Amino acid sequence: MNADCEISVTGLRKSFGPLTVLNGIDLRLKAGERVAIIGPSGTGKSTLLRCMNYLDRPEAGVIRIGDLTVDAATVTRQQILALRRRTSFVFQHYALFANKTARENITEGLIGVRGIPLAEANRRADRILADIGLSDKAGSYPAALSGGQQQRVGIGRAMAMESDLMLFDEPTSALDPEWVGEVLDLIRRVADGRQTMLIVTHEMQFAREIADRIVFMEGGRIVEQGPPAQIFDNPRDERTRAFLRRVG
Ligand code: ADP
Ligand code: MG
Repeated sequence: MNADCEISVTGLRKSFGPLTVLNGIDLRLKAGERVAIIGPSGTGKSTLLRCMNYLDRPEAGVIRIGDLTVDAATVTRQQILALRRRTSFVFQHYALFANKTARENITEGLIGVRGIPLAEANRRADRILADIGLSDKAGSYPAALSGGQQQRVGIGRAMAMESDLMLFDEPTSALDPEWVGEVLDLIRRVADGRQTMLIVTHEMQFAREIADRIVFMEGGRIVEQGPPAQIFDNPRDERTRAFLRRVG
């Protein structure tokens, strides 16, 4: 991980057929910065995260992570692979491989994306499993794990990549309420380590607590952003106020 890594997105645009979902997104993150994205559903939050590692392909825009520049107009396969090596993704529905154990889910990306030898990948996975409190589940398949444990494996998999940027897309919204706390606790620890992160969440109290900055999105645009106290206690834009009234 490059501690000095600055991340920026400039002029990011994405449509699905006639539907424009991202309407020119500009966003910067400093190294170690933790940014939470909030906003109504259908507003392009997931699409923004997915475009940032080309799970969705933007039509236009430039993504920079440190010395890597990826311009949608000229992007190459090599650049997409490089972008994926520098980012890691935590999905709402965990997206674990059902036919792989917890340990194999963690080593998969290390071996496949990073080219780390199996023995070293296993050592790293075992350190991560200890760190996330799941050493005793190393050989368990996802179906044998609770929702909270599955998402902790999903987060452990992303932690193992030691990426420049961790992307979290509503990591607790598919969980039964009883598992939310343990997953938030783990994300809080990742945040405490000053991992650069972009997290989409509807957990407003959590966002206020862990984020250096809150970004409010609506209609494929960033409407307003600022420190949590400003956005939550003193939002300037009427759309932000209306959203916070609805969710608060
Ligand atoms: P959010 O995460 O803020 O709820 P999304 O980024 O998931 O919003 O979706 C934004 C809009 O894009 C929605 O109208 C959604 O239906 C549409 N959309 C997202 N993914 C696709 C897709 N693969 N094909 C067509 N439309 C999509
Ligand atoms: Mg979403």
